[in-house]
Amino acid sequence: MKLILLGAPGAGKGTVAKLLTAIDGSVQISTGDILRGAVQAGTELGKEAEGYMKRGDLVPDSLIMGIMENRLQEPDCEKGFLLDGFPRTIPQAEALKELLAKLGITLDMAVDIEVPRDVILDRLCTRRTCENADCQAIYNVKSNPTRQEGICDKCGSRVIQREDETEEAISHRLETYNEKTSPLIGFYEKEGLLISIEALNSDAVVNGVKEKLGL
Ligand code: AMP
Repeated sequence: MKLILLGAPGAGKGTVAKLLTAIDGSVQISTGDILRGAVQAGTELGKEAEGYMKRGDLVPDSLIMGIMENRLQEPDCEKGFLLDGFPRTIPQAEALKELLAKLGITLDMAVDIEVPRDVILDRLCTRRTCENADCQAIYNVKSNPTRQEGICDKCGSRVIQREDETEEAISHRLETYNEKTSPLIGFYEKEGLLISIEALNSDAVVNGVKEKLGL
């Protein structure tokens, strides 16, 4: 499947993407994970992106399009991909449309995951992430804690609260989402690709997607 996952930070895009990869081997492509990996590795990309990310601002479109142009041409994308956290602005969506046309790739749909703001806020404040750049498993202190406190179940690395998950950065990220990313819902509606799923748990979103794709 070739999907875009839309939705505010904390809507569950990453969790849904991980569940969908298990269905047909499509790969999850999270620009946030790629950028955090680059920051940790201290690459040029990471150095450029770090300040924006800490503040909860978007990284410039040109940097993101450079990442995506390369990533979408890697062989593992042939089975399908789940775009998680990209596109995030109208210029990114337009550039993606051009890039996909150039590569001869057709999207199945853009899935908007709708979750109420109070649920999002609560989730983001209680979310914890594995600090190992190759893992980045997501936990929640209330609903999905690690078996051993502070230690990732999957790889044994430390599980931390992300620097952009302080209350201040979270509210800034949500403002940025409303201003810059939510217009993508109208964009994909016009493209005839949008489906909206209102759901509080990721399994319900996955079932909605399967139903729409006839899986
Ligand atoms: P995420 O893990 O998707 O919430 O992304 C974490 C941070 O990475 C965001 O707050 C942005 O600073 C940056 N980022 C991730 N994806 C994008 C994107 N498509 N465009 C611009 N910035 C992004």
